[in-house]
Amino acid sequence: MSDANMVIAGAGKAGARAVVGLREHGWTGPIILVGEEALAPYDRPPLSKSAISEEAEPEPVYLLDEEMLKSLDATWRSNAAATRINREVKTITLANGEVIAYQKLLIATGAKPRKLSIAGAERAIMLRDFSDTLRLRREFTPGRHVAIIGGGFIGLELASTARKRGCEVAVIEMQPRVLMRGVPQVISDVVASRHQEAGVHLFTGVSIDRIDSDAVVLADGQRVRAEIVIAGIGAAPEITLGKDAGLAIENGIAVDSYLRTSDPDIYASGDCCSFPHPVFGGQRMRLEAWRSAQDQAAVAAENMVGGNRVYDAIPWFWSDQYELTLQIAGMPSEGTQTVTRIVKDGAFIVFHLNGDGVLVGASGIGPGNTIARDVRLSEMLIAKRAAPDPAALADITVQLKALLKG
Ligand code: FAD
Ligand code: NAP
Repeated sequence: MSDANMVIAGAGKAGARAVVGLREHGWTGPIILVGEEALAPYDRPPLSKSAISEEAEPEPVYLLDEEMLKSLDATWRSNAAATRINREVKTITLANGEVIAYQKLLIATGAKPRKLSIAGAERAIMLRDFSDTLRLRREFTPGRHVAIIGGGFIGLELASTARKRGCEVAVIEMQPRVLMRGVPQVISDVVASRHQEAGVHLFTGVSIDRIDSDAVVLADGQRVRAEIVIAGIGAAPEITLGKDAGLAIENGIAVDSYLRTSDPDIYASGDCCSFPHPVFGGQRMRLEAWRSAQDQAAVAAENMVGGNRVYDAIPWFWSDQYELTLQIAGMPSEGTQTVTRIVKDGAFIVFHLNGDGVLVGASGIGPGNTIARDVRLSEMLIAKRAAPDPAALADITVQLKALLKG
């Protein structure tokens, strides 16, 4: 058994990007990509959006298909959950008993949906993989009543797609407003109004007593009619492999700035790991976002083959609901004051500044890609730790590009 293998456990966004990264950085030896799903690595963002809303039967959007894996000379093991890491002899064991030796290992096992723990919870459908999407497509037929528990990203994107398919939709959120943790109040308000305009019934600040066979029953006794119940109540990092192997865990598999775990031969990337962010004072964070998974895997792959690169990309993610796209860059929660720039009618960006006037986040919403360019420039300002004049940030006649030069 060769031990000069680069092994990747988890064949999602981060796992797929790492295969490419290893080759980009000159690794010519064996690469073994181990995934518990049957499908080759595919993209998840379409699963709550176009894969349900579009008329045509969806195909997975492959990140690497079998042909690409072949051209990268990577061995792909499908339906093969990694069940154990033996750090002493540097091997991983798969569910079928196969043992694979590694020189360096990347854990890229993503996250798993949180489960409800109320009576009737077994009725709730969760969305994480392609087969869940196919199921939801079958369930979303015109006129059916869909109750979605959780007004976060999955819940609201699915509310939008279910309405497009003609369902009657209710969203039930415990917090006083939707997207409570992710976005500022003004953006929540725009999102909530757009859903209400589309005919979605929003229940906020409520808790749920139980799920009956025909309804979700709220704590105050209200019955929300539900032929279909969906739970989108957040995700938990998939840390089992790392935890059982005794790696340091801190809200995910803990890695350093080079994305190395507490074992120097094991790296982690994507939704499963937490890392210190140098732009935000070394604060440890875990991100559940497509671009972070991609960027982290690129850095980890480079470092696995001898590189020495710190992961310092500015967090960024987007969400599409109806014609609106929402984008968040940086760490809005680090801000103590906000300034708003109206980009055009119905499109604006909220800038978040900390106590020293440093730009730490930008949260924007608008139709299509109206805010994309300004959010991109905001990311660059955040990366520079710029402290722009708030009046200039608010003034649409001042180009953000000009502030970058300042
Ligand atoms: P994943 O993509 O989850 O991949 C992990 C893989 O590892 C999975 O295939 C899993 O089955 C496998 N695995 C787990 N354990 C094992 C094991 N022991 N052995 C082998 N394999 C294992 N982000 C955005 O920024 N914008 C969006 O619009 C957006 N939309 C999304 C929509 C949906 C429905 C979902 C679910 C996520 C969305 N995201 C979005 C988040 C984004 O897709 C994730 O952050 C990204 O997929 C994380 O990549 P990852 O590789 O860390 O994890
Ligand atoms: P999420 O964005 O964290 O939202 C979950 C929401 O449900 C939160 O508002 C949460 O409130 C609420 N909640 C929790 N328990 C509840 C309960 N018992 N009853 C009612 N509400 C409850 O998570 P998600 O929407 O489920 O998404 C899961 C994963 O998919 C994440 O990794 C996410 O990043 C990813 N995803 C991302 C996108 C995107 O970025 N566009 C789109 C789809 C999916 P608390 O905050 O109080 O827990």
